[in-house]
Amino acid sequence: MIYVYFISEVKNCEHCLKAFKKGKVEERNFHSSVALYTVGDGAKLVVDFEPYRAGMDEASKDEGELTTAKRLIKRVVAEHKNLIDVVVYDAIACNSEWILRIEDIE
Ligand SMILES: [Zn+2]
Repeated sequence: MIYVYFISEVKNCEHCLKAFKKGKVEERNFHSSVALYTVGDGAKLVVDFEPYRAGMDEASKDEGELTTAKRLIKRVVAEHKNLIDVVVYDAIACNSEWILRIEDIE
């Protein structure tokens, strides 16, 4: 799940992600995270979240969801051994690169 928890057309910092309104020059600055949480019946527990990093893939391009999610899962698995048996993700993760990288996390 992706959470956007700050957005502004005026304020920004060095870690802000950038988005542009369609058809306009105006820039939006925001912060966003990928969250890892329990699924199933009953209340959901947020285990942890990981913020996207600005300008990581190239100078003008912010980090993508899967890169952020991989870092989150790797960190949570390292910090909480045996907590996670199964990761459920949407169709964006249906690719061999994701599956191979997740299998490598111990
Ligand atoms: Zn910022």
